[in-house]
Amino acid sequence: MVSKNAGMKPSRFYIERQVTRALTPTGGFLEKFAFSLNPYIGCAFGDNGGCPFCYVRMLPVAQTMPGAWGTWVVAKINLPQLLEVELKALEASGKLQDSAVFMSSATDPYQGYERLLKLTHAALEQFVRRSPRRLVLQTRSPLVERDADILRALRDRLIVSLTLETDDERVRRALTPTSPSVARRLLTARRLREAGLFVQLAIAPMLPNRPERFARLAAEAADRVVVDTYAGDGAGGQRSQKLGMEELYRRKLGIGGALNAGAETPLIAAMRARLGPHRVLIGKDGFNMT
Ligand code: SF4
Repeated sequence: MVSKNAGMKPSRFYIERQVTRALTPTGGFLEKFAFSLNPYIGCAFGDNGGCPFCYVRMLPVAQTMPGAWGTWVVAKINLPQLLEVELKALEASGKLQDSAVFMSSATDPYQGYERLLKLTHAALEQFVRRSPRRLVLQTRSPLVERDADILRALRDRLIVSLTLETDDERVRRALTPTSPSVARRLLTARRLREAGLFVQLAIAPMLPNRPERFARLAAEAADRVVVDTYAGDGAGGQRSQKLGMEELYRRKLGIGGALNAGAETPLIAAMRARLGPHRVLIGKDGFNMT
């Protein structure tokens, strides 16, 4: 079924598609995870181009549809049913208890379309019935709060990873103007933490920030942070270079140094001082602390 716009933001396409598998064996950057789970392909965050640093647009998955990254979303409409079958098989083989699942690696599982389709919600219900050793649910959307009850049922195995690239609302507005505000994402983090969930802030990729302030806000809102730079783009920063982040910093923020080595040092120092070293994870190793 193809639904143009479907009552969502204009000039975007929303498409429903049957797929043949739910869980995707993973590795690489997510080396400690057995599987990733992406209920959607594509992404409607960002303004007809997605987040400017989003290197997923350079991956084969972004060629699934014509049109620029950020203008379309494909919903895997039969994903919950497939997931049920696959989790049953993993359980029967004895592998489920050892598996870690990352949801989602190539999109955000709380696309606006999720309000209508509830694919992520249905997938979470399957994980309640058959739980892996660890589930990491990563999103930038406050819509995750809708699922607080079901997330509570998973809390012994769950890390909610909320993407927050900066504490500076001016930077957020300049670079990711259609993503939820800094304050709104911090509110989501606090609410989920108050609900008893383990909450991680994924500062990835780190954007220009005010280290002391960011550390204070993070300490109040999250159980831990993971800080990653453009080096975490899967190609040592080359993808971010090709995406023109240096030029974007100059044009939108009037500064350079997007790809400078060591740009993260002040933030990591401030975070460690405020949260304690054990609550501050770094880069690929940090994302794989499951
Ligand atoms: S929300 Fe995530 S997947 Fe979507 S454009 Fe931004 S970085 Fe890419």
